[in-house]
Amino acid sequence: MTGGRRLLLHICCAPDATVPWPELTAEGYEVSGFFYGSNIHPEGEWRRRRDAVLKLANAVGSPAEFSLYEPDEWRAGVVGMENCPEGGERCGLCFGLQLGAAARLAASGGYDALCTTLTISPHKNPAIVNEAGRTESARLGVEWIDRVWRKNDGFRRSVARSTELGLYRQNYCGCEYSARNIEGIS
Ligand code: SF4
Repeated sequence: MTGGRRLLLHICCAPDATVPWPELTAEGYEVSGFFYGSNIHPEGEWRRRRDAVLKLANAVGSPAEFSLYEPDEWRAGVVGMENCPEGGERCGLCFGLQLGAAARLAASGGYDALCTTLTISPHKNPAIVNEAGRTESARLGVEWIDRVWRKNDGFRRSVARSTELGLYRQNYCGCEYSARNIEGIS
């Protein structure tokens, strides 16, 4: 650790964190990862993604924190939105649930700032992600670090780095609704 400002990095999945984590560290932040994960279905998939975050934490030499796996709570937060298409209203609520949990941990853990890896994905709207992060952070008096990680070829670089590190990479966003058409997931 460098003695810099403490930043909690909300991690949606390990591959998406491969670029933000070292880049924020290079900027001088003391970065800890945080994997929420209650949006992930089924539990075996959550375990695989959690283990990938642990593997990445070891590779970057920084700590990571993990929520309890509470899919029923997540489901209650998006009730009525089950049939929304990916990228729609359900995802906006999901970002709020994930970043709300991250903001609570940042506030209770005495972190100076909060950021997320979600904006590296070409499938997510970075304006909606950053707006959710700003709202949840402001509620708890945490500074929100607004980034669009997919800029500067971020997504392609994250894929390459994940391959180098041998990280597990999923083929669906995470929740049961996003897994509907994926073979072998029920
Ligand atoms: S598709 Fe992804 S972002 Fe949207 S609700 Fe499901 S897990 Fe959340």
